[in-house]
Amino acid sequence: MTAEIICVGTELLLGDILNTNAQFLSRELADLGISVLHQHVIGDNVERLRALVTEARARSELLVFSGGLGPTEDDLTKETVAEAFGDTLRFDPEEWDKILAFFARTNRTPTPNNRKQAMVPVRGHKLPNAHGTAPGAWFEDEAGHCAVLMPGVPRELKAMWAEDVRPALEQRQNCVIHSRTLRVLGGESSIATKVGELFHSENPTIAIYCKVGESEIRVTARAATADQAEAACMDRIALLRQRLGDNAYDVDVPGLEYTVVRVLRERGLHAATAESCTGGMVAERLTNVPGSSEVFGYGFVTYAEAAKTQLLEVDPALIQQYNVVSAEVAVAMARGAVNASGAELAVGITGLAGPGGALPGKPVGTVYLAGADRRSHRTWVMRLNLGGYQERAIIRTRAALYALDLLRRMALELPVPDAELLEETF
Ligand code: ATP
Ligand code: MG
Repeated sequence: MTAEIICVGTELLLGDILNTNAQFLSRELADLGISVLHQHVIGDNVERLRALVTEARARSELLVFSGGLGPTEDDLTKETVAEAFGDTLRFDPEEWDKILAFFARTNRTPTPNNRKQAMVPVRGHKLPNAHGTAPGAWFEDEAGHCAVLMPGVPRELKAMWAEDVRPALEQRQNCVIHSRTLRVLGGESSIATKVGELFHSENPTIAIYCKVGESEIRVTARAATADQAEAACMDRIALLRQRLGDNAYDVDVPGLEYTVVRVLRERGLHAATAESCTGGMVAERLTNVPGSSEVFGYGFVTYAEAAKTQLLEVDPALIQQYNVVSAEVAVAMARGAVNASGAELAVGITGLAGPGGALPGKPVGTVYLAGADRRSHRTWVMRLNLGGYQERAIIRTRAALYALDLLRRMALELPVPDAELLEETF
């Protein structure tokens, strides 16, 4: 099936809002195996809309609309599409009652214009709106080409899509769709070199989305049954994991901290953090996970040298000798956190987030990260060069991500790439 997305709204053309509905709909349609030929953005103008609908209907089997269902005079999308698809609209008392009830609940009075929102297709059908006043509409012409109209408000659009439109399209496509998301540390290009050719597969489809310091790989399978679709997804995920190694850290989790908390819990371990340049970001991410109190009790934000000395017992002479941004201080911070908290594992982070403050041989973005393991009395330390990402926020986010990964690797006893394992124990 071929489709076009038509987003109606002058505010989109003016750049007042970002067209997130187009992105959402494109992804969803791709999941369904429906080829999106075009995305359009058009203002509230009947002539231009009519011309576009005529053209798009001739070319594609499915037109998906967002926006233009509002009550104002210039919202004429429904009328225009009805005409193009050879349909008409009728007043629907049931929808009107819902609109009246909605206004009553919010202590407002509807305007005569609101009656427009209760107009529904005669030959086609309406789509209930669980979160707003305007119902959507589904039109179909003699050739079997369809137009689906949904509200512009993203929450309303997504609900209508999930509850009515997507299931109807799945039925037309005669299949069940199922997705799983594998999260992988590292950027798109390093991942593409390892698994690039898998991205050309049509079923399951594989899409990669870049995040800061990591990527999401979404695997979507179409099959006759849900079990078959799930099996196809998991097969492909196993293949990806095999190729990507332990940088692929989990499936269907919101972020690395969820994996870290799970792994710590499974192994009965506890973690502590000693943070300087990340200012508590690692602790924040860990404590964002429900149930993290079982595995995390101490997070030190030791920004000043005195704080490092007093709370973590970092030797002032060490700071004097090597500078506060150094491998030695990161190691002392991690060990200090283990000692002060009694946790089995701790990370120490000290670095230059910038924009100012570069030191000789230590440009902005230089971060030292250490991990101490009380079980083995071992310590890892690494120097991260995050300076290519000049922005302070990005440097800090990436440093925190590396720290979480170090906790994961220590907990699972995985190798720690690019880290030095110190000879002396503590
Ligand atoms: P309403 O009854 O609220 O007027 P509508 O269907 O006419 O609904 P619009 O007026 O086009 O929808 O949009 C309502 C709001 O939804 C916009 O102000 C905007 O915040 C958001 N919105 C509209 N279109 C999009 C889009 N393509 N992407 C993201 N947000 C959008
Ligand atoms: Mg509107």
